[in-house]
Amino acid sequence: MINPLLADWSTPFQIAPFNAISDDDFAPALDEALAAHDAEIAAIAQNVSPASFENVIGALESAGGALDKVLSVFFTVAGADSNSAREELQRDFSPKLAAHFSRITANKALFQRLQDVWTNRDRLNLTDEQARVLMLTHRGFVRAGAALTGVEDTRMAEIKSRLAELGTSFTQNLLADERSWFMELGELDLEGLPQFVIDTARAAGEEKGVGGPVVTLSRSLIVPFLQFSACRDLRQKAFEAWAARGANGGATDNRAICAEILALREERAGLLGYASFADYKLETEMAKTPAAVRQLLRDVWEPAKAQAEADAAVLTKMMRAEGVNGDLAPWDWRYYAAKRRVAEHDIDEAEVKPYFQLERMIEASFACATRLFGLEFKRLDVPLYHADCRAWEVTRAGKHVAVFIGDYFARGSKRSGAWCSAMRAQAKYPEVQTPIVINVCNFAKGTPALLSYDDARTLFHEFGHALHQMLSNVTYESISGTSVARDFVELPSQLYEHWLDVPEVLAEFATHYETGEPMPKALLDKVLGAATFDMGFQTVEYVASAMVDLAFHEGVAPADPMAKQAEILAEMDMPAAIVMRHATPQFAHVFSGDGYSAGYYSYMWSEVMDADAFEAFEEKGDAFDGQLAASLERNILSSGGSRDAAELYEAFRGRMPGVEALLKGRGLAA
Ligand SMILES: [Zn+2]
Repeated sequence: MINPLLADWSTPFQIAPFNAISDDDFAPALDEALAAHDAEIAAIAQNVSPASFENVIGALESAGGALDKVLSVFFTVAGADSNSAREELQRDFSPKLAAHFSRITANKALFQRLQDVWTNRDRLNLTDEQARVLMLTHRGFVRAGAALTGVEDTRMAEIKSRLAELGTSFTQNLLADERSWFMELGELDLEGLPQFVIDTARAAGEEKGVGGPVVTLSRSLIVPFLQFSACRDLRQKAFEAWAARGANGGATDNRAICAEILALREERAGLLGYASFADYKLETEMAKTPAAVRQLLRDVWEPAKAQAEADAAVLTKMMRAEGVNGDLAPWDWRYYAAKRRVAEHDIDEAEVKPYFQLERMIEASFACATRLFGLEFKRLDVPLYHADCRAWEVTRAGKHVAVFIGDYFARGSKRSGAWCSAMRAQAKYPEVQTPIVINVCNFAKGTPALLSYDDARTLFHEFGHALHQMLSNVTYESISGTSVARDFVELPSQLYEHWLDVPEVLAEFATHYETGEPMPKALLDKVLGAATFDMGFQTVEYVASAMVDLAFHEGVAPADPMAKQAEILAEMDMPAAIVMRHATPQFAHVFSGDGYSAGYYSYMWSEVMDADAFEAFEEKGDAFDGQLAASLERNILSSGGSRDAAELYEAFRGRMPGVEALLKGRGLAA
């Protein structure tokens, strides 16, 4: 019998036949699909006819169809509806897949064919998109070390494997330090703590086998403890333990690991011919150079610091009024900021939620896409992997565009957070395939399901990613939809969040579930006003981390990263009562793997663009301006990675973004 994952899917729009697939099908299907992909790759590498775009790049693009089918189904259910069998499969699959893909980039015969096409590229009459796909594919191989030979090739393999080990040790050490420390609280130490913090502290105590409540270093407990505990000495003790993670000496100390990682990254970049690891990392990003990143961070730093210093003065005054002398310390900031928030923005979640019904917010996200891009949504009746999932057919002017699947509710089998993925990416080669896109969220179920304002933003955010996939209109799958630079990929999603705040959208869709009334103006102002609260602090702690990350990866790797960190912070004149959001021995973004190394800036880079891009609509005085919406689709949402991100942005906005709109959005503009 043919494995249902590998069969032809005769379902509507070839959506995976979830009801016919069982967990036992995954492992044999993966093995079969990997073998099929290996055979396809071998055929491309050993082809005896002269290398051409079609028989190398075209063939690589069309290869792996079976693998795509298996993995799209597997990763969908492993993330959104896991069980112990799926968890075990995932542990088996990860190293298998990593080895499979590194075998492809290490295939010297294949690289030689690719190199031949690359060398002849000017004689091949390629379309712009083909030239781009060739450049990206070739660059990907070269960056993975495919062009290295002899001792350099061997050394690169050693460096990669040592970096993988060090990244794992870094993560495990951090986890060990987070797990081993806790502080017992007596009944008197609970002063000021809200019930939910006390409950969490008691549950943590039980887990640790202690009779009473404890504070641990888990972010979800320590942060509210620092916000609400009236005991300054306990806040200090907890804060210091939190700040010391990964730097406690002994077997779990991460400081030497950080130094070795930075040195190996520098060596790796050198082997590949880059001036520094930052140059290597940023080559593929919209920012392109360390100088461009530094410029962004500097432009934001001074206004953020000025705001933080003004806020520090207010908080110090509150502290003095309570009779506490001395300077405002890092363990005081969150405590007084929380008090100030209540005083200035007192928002009762229970008052807000009745206005954000999940169903109305889904309708709102669709309605904006209808007005902006002419998309229409019709419910589809197809079997999916869980009863809470639903599907819509997306059409435009009667023509099929995509299938959109929404899986909105939290459940034990779903990992936390929210995400968007394409179960099938848009492409036209070797044949037309229309996208199947899924949004997964973790909203609380209820009748009706009610969201917080932040939840509603999340829904719009993920739907923005979905639009980037659904409106994609390129030929090759490797550059379709969200296959763009890391510092560009959050633009469509963060940009779409702005439509939730459009007054006419809120007036129509944010209506009370019982009365149908729109949200009263005073409440709305409070909700929107709270968005910029304590932004000086948040921006300072973030930018400090991003600056240190960048400095670590430029020039010669520091032998003592802690000394380098201190030097950078001193140069920046870091406010005394704020620390880096992630200090070096805890900076998992940068040291657990290299995904966000020399890349921590990218969250803010995207925010600069989304603020600046939405301002284009504000300048027109119409959030639904048809010409601008068409330009947004033409230049950004439909283009995937077919052109350089900076070119795409300039084509839409007529210029590169500046930080002014971001500063305004964060309440930091002078
Ligand atoms: Zn996102």
